[in-house]
Amino acid sequence: MSKENIFFRIVEEKCIDCGICREVCPYTAVYIEPNPLRIRFIVDEVRCTGCGGEEHALCVRFCPAPGALMEMQRVAQPTV
Ligand code: SF4
Ligand code: SF4
Repeated sequence: MSKENIFFRIVEEKCIDCGICREVCPYTAVYIEPNPLRIRFIVDEVRCTGCGGEEHALCVRFCPAPGALMEMQRVAQPTV
């Protein structure tokens, strides 16, 4: 998989809502979704650069919950 066109997505079932990814992300790509029942952290897929993949991305390296950040490949948009 190319590391140039990726982003990360938080897997809600595995995330423990610690917020560390938001603290360490150099692109302020992680935001908090207001939710009266639970604070949820979400990766803004537009702002996320992928940071070169999970070996390098600070969000993944500091995340204490295994598998909570999933690498995704961007789908190329057809040009018109
Ligand atoms: S991959 Fe990089 S830009 Fe994306 S959320 Fe993680 S630290 Fe932020
Ligand atoms: S660092 Fe991991 S466990 Fe913590 S909020 Fe981010 S994805 Fe969830």
